[in-house]
Amino acid sequence: MASDFAQLVKQQADIVKIIGDYMRLKKAGAQNFSGLCPFHKEKSPSFSVHATRQFFHCFGCGVSGDVFSFIQKIENVSFPESVRFVAQKCGIPLPKREFSSEEEAQEGRQRAKLLELHELATAWFEEQLRSPEGALAREYLSGRGLKPDEIKQFRIGYAPDSFHALRERLQSLADEDTLRLSGLFSFKAQEDGKPGPIYSRFRKRVTFPIANESGRVIAFTARALEAGEKAGPKYLNSPETPLYSKGNILFNLDKARQAIRETSFAVLVEGQMDCISVFLAGVKNVIATSGTAFTEAQVRLLSRYATRIIINFDPDTAGANAAEKSIALLTEEGFEVRVVTLEGGLDPDRYIREHGAQEYMTALRAAKRHSDYLIERARQLFPPSTADAKVKALNFLLPHIKRMPNRITRDEFATDAAQKLGIDSALVREELKQAAAKRRDSLAHAVPTLSEAEKDLLRALAAPVSDQACKAAMAGFDSNESYFEGLTVAPILKQLRHRGDADPMEAIEDPAGRSLLAQALNGEIEPVSAEHVTAALETLRRRYLERRRRELRAAVSEAERNGDTTSVVKLTAEKLALDRELREP
Ligand SMILES: [Zn+2]
Repeated sequence: MASDFAQLVKQQADIVKIIGDYMRLKKAGAQNFSGLCPFHKEKSPSFSVHATRQFFHCFGCGVSGDVFSFIQKIENVSFPESVRFVAQKCGIPLPKREFSSEEEAQEGRQRAKLLELHELATAWFEEQLRSPEGALAREYLSGRGLKPDEIKQFRIGYAPDSFHALRERLQSLADEDTLRLSGLFSFKAQEDGKPGPIYSRFRKRVTFPIANESGRVIAFTARALEAGEKAGPKYLNSPETPLYSKGNILFNLDKARQAIRETSFAVLVEGQMDCISVFLAGVKNVIATSGTAFTEAQVRLLSRYATRIIINFDPDTAGANAAEKSIALLTEEGFEVRVVTLEGGLDPDRYIREHGAQEYMTALRAAKRHSDYLIERARQLFPPSTADAKVKALNFLLPHIKRMPNRITRDEFATDAAQKLGIDSALVREELKQAAAKRRDSLAHAVPTLSEAEKDLLRALAAPVSDQACKAAMAGFDSNESYFEGLTVAPILKQLRHRGDADPMEAIEDPAGRSLLAQALNGEIEPVSAEHVTAALETLRRRYLERRRRELRAAVSEAERNGDTTSVVKLTAEKLALDRELREP
């Protein structure tokens, strides 16, 4: 399946470095790195990357594979695209394109085309901003304190008041269907149900490009320069497209991710303009949601880089609700969350313009723990002067308290809440105890463990076929298949034995099996040798004989009970032979 070029790229790519670009990895052994899985929800790291074997595996959700499968999953691209992507990262020149299927080729071409259209539209909007027509937009931006080089840095542009200008710019590059798919245009359905002609979605608006993690523009958000019904909503976003899914993107993550990874700390604001202001004020680790609600996918995306976060939303009702929802999602993921409410009800953008960057930094440093913020909010919503209000305030807080994954912080939160609301803390504790019991039930799941002998065989069979240890293991497996009868590891060994030249991880069909292989490979201290294999086979042989002897013992008693003398004699003889075999060193 994998082309020669893919093999070459895989040999030169460092999987730890490439995955490390997307998430925080910690060294967890001689060859191992671990972190929070980017593909499922978790609080303690079960995602591991093996440096020498060049694969990743998650013990939680079972995903595993090589550097290409990782890129395919995380960038949502096809295999050939992932090869190209990794090659580019490693600076390996690309050969002529080879696609493995027509469908993939089609998809790849379409994505490439949509990216190209977005790039061209971005450049065109930038040009329009500099043109005479862009005067009003320039005025707006300078009014918000943006300097020309800052406008350039964020590639802010202007969509002129024209239905057709952008189409004219792009129509030689793509057919109408592709233009429609890009989300840059609107259209109405005709009477026959077919889509009507396309026209510019963004008109007379300041355009802010939205980029993916790698910095490629995939969508826009555009601010109206005029108010009123005719001008439409204040902010207009690209619709969902094959490139863009609103709930999966964090605005500015491409520019902020380096700083976030280095400090494992992020500042979250509501709007793009806030985000730009905060970034330009020198807070390089700032990101924004596009709109108010934070999604689970965004939390997961962020958890690849950060463990701590300061939320700085608008202090209005919508902002407070969004902050509460975000706190809930983030604390559940194990984030340490703080909240800033800026003085005078200002949003970050205005606050920085009125008070300056230094004061904003001071406000960030004074951010409240999320528990203090929520308790204060509960007191505002339900001033605890009556018993009824106290119950309401407590009911507002309880779900937040229950959500805290750590027992100590949960207890602290509960004690604080009880104290500040004037409630008996025993009452709060009782509520929490019930929640804790439920939590324990849902956490029970068993992971099978392997003996060192089983692990050594797995390691040997996963080694390159030319390896002495691998050869010994294959021969040993073929001639002694009975040793493995009934063992969990048997089907995995068998699949590895017959994998041909496939990647070991890909050769194993079920996630649980891949998990076991990863467990073995991760625990490898020195490379497994042919001697290790011989010793492992001997251990497994003895265990097999012991199992067999137990079975014979049971069979003998059974035959005795049934009065079946012939069988008793035959089985006893067999058992004695086994005893002899087991006595031998
Ligand atoms: Zn996982």
